[in-house]
Amino acid sequence: MSISTNLTTIRNEIKQAAEQSQRNHNDITLVAVSKFHGKDAALEAIKAGQTVFGENKIQEATHKWTDIKENNSDIELHFIGHLQTNKAKEAVQLFDVIEIVDRKKLALSLAKEMEKQDKYPECYIQVNTGSEPQKSGISPEETDELIALCQEINLPVTGVMCIPPAGENPEPHFDILFQIAERNGLKNISMGMSSDYATAIEHGATHIRVGTAIFGKRPTI
Ligand SMILES: *Cc1c(COP(=O)(O)O)cnc(C)c1O
Repeated sequence: MSISTNLTTIRNEIKQAAEQSQRNHNDITLVAVSKFHGKDAALEAIKAGQTVFGENKIQEATHKWTDIKENNSDIELHFIGHLQTNKAKEAVQLFDVIEIVDRKKLALSLAKEMEKQDKYPECYIQVNTGSEPQKSGISPEETDELIALCQEINLPVTGVMCIPPAGENPEPHFDILFQIAERNGLKNISMGMSSDYATAIEHGATHIRVGTAIFGKRPTI
């Protein structure tokens, strides 16, 4: 299957899932996760009309996207990986949305960098909805407090994201994330990947992050 065929299939499924839950499909953004795939794959997706992309490593993303972004002003790049505090500068430089703010120290570094660069990418709070010890993300219980702190330091938080535990029914996790967004007045809800994005849409996702179903399998390392 080609990237453009895959994109067409997914766009149709987004429409179907939106219809089923009486939502407008234009309220759902497909974030094409191009990590591990090269510039050619990214350009092929752009040619097929895709403008929003996700990457999880600063160095790989810089290499892949710096030129492409210079030549395509409508590209919107989301950071979805783990971010070390000392990479805040690069993240603010390259990305339009930083989906993984999950601790105070990182929030403070990002706020400082944004002021320095006078560039304010939107931030989402990453929530560890399954409270998995090995996983990034703030616990659901501590999320409201982190959001309040971000607002105090003028970090532009506009949404939340989660990665439910592998092998579990994701629906309770989607619901937890939806509720956090709702009670904090945040409009963006990033949840759902290749295997469960239709379900995520039915539970209120505004952004789905899809890699494998667009670009094919990644090498396992
Ligand atoms: C890799 C990745 C995705 C995409 O996963 P697929 O199963 O390939 O669709 C989504 N979100 C995050 C945070 C990822 O790291």
